[in-house]
Amino acid sequence: MATTKYAIAPMKAAQISKPGGEFEIVEREIPNPGPGQVRIKVQACGVCHSDVLTKEGLWPGIQYPRVPGHEVAGVIDEVGPGVTAWSKGQRVGVGWHGGHDGTCRECRRGDFRNCRNQKVAGISYDGGYQQYMVAPIEALAAIPATLSDVDAAPLMCAGITTYNALRHSGAMPGDLVAVLGIGGLGHLGIQFANKFGYKVVAIGRGPANAALAKKLGASAYLDSQATKAAEELQKLGGAQVILATAPSSKAMSELIDGLAPNGKLIVIGATFDPIEVTPLQLINGSRSIQGWAAGTAADSEDTLRFAELTGVRPMIETYPLEKAAEAYARMMSGKAEFRVVLTM
Ligand SMILES: [Zn+2]
Ligand SMILES: [Zn+2]
Repeated sequence: MATTKYAIAPMKAAQISKPGGEFEIVEREIPNPGPGQVRIKVQACGVCHSDVLTKEGLWPGIQYPRVPGHEVAGVIDEVGPGVTAWSKGQRVGVGWHGGHDGTCRECRRGDFRNCRNQKVAGISYDGGYQQYMVAPIEALAAIPATLSDVDAAPLMCAGITTYNALRHSGAMPGDLVAVLGIGGLGHLGIQFANKFGYKVVAIGRGPANAALAKKLGASAYLDSQATKAAEELQKLGGAQVILATAPSSKAMSELIDGLAPNGKLIVIGATFDPIEVTPLQLINGSRSIQGWAAGTAADSEDTLRFAELTGVRPMIETYPLEKAAEAYARMMSGKAEFRVVLTM
């Protein structure tokens, strides 16, 4: 039987105690890591739209109270029994991929990203909206020395998701790649796409973000309210990849005709309503639509190293942990520029 030991000093955590509940700032005992785990002194944690799954109880089987947060940056301050590959004082991040079983069919094939029993930080176990958290070692990504905690945190979900989706998209340097949405995901997607050597077209609603999109590395900006973006993409030759970051199925549907032959719409903006597409839209030009979820801790490490190498950084607004409710509301308003980060 597993036993849980507690150290003495209490810590602060922002927890949700029931589906749809409000954030509560509570004092908790500092947990000790079990075998194969480490304890992280959390320095920063990004506030992601997917935290709505914890806040509103939308994940099957989630147990409460639960501390959300899967964009964690911190430092290991204790290692559990048997842990040799990680040590105290190492800076680490934890992202959406919070652990895998190593035994399911996908894991046995090395496809840990699609583990059937994947754990998610902040859903399967308490995440980063607290001063200390415990995580399994397979969820840990080393943070490069020159990357700050508040910059590293959003890269653990928004960053890796855009980076990993793009690097597996099949687009080659020089290809036309469109990024739909200039928000928490999109502002990173534009930067990565630019650094990968793509010709980047940013697509947003209204003219407001045109200058910013170009500053981030887009060579063109399409205002989807003023133009038919799919037609404009075809005038440029068609997009090899459209990275759909905006959580709008309607906006995604409207762009499918902007794909080049063999072009791919990659869906990372999470919504519950259907994308509309006719079979002929896909058959003509052998186009496809693919979803993509984050990646493993090793993918996160690649993301962090690439960001360090190329200067890709998130644009952030920071809030202290005590203002978790305010920070979450800010993220949900869609007005944050662009990633909200809690500091401990
Ligand atoms: Zn996320
Ligand atoms: Zn598995």
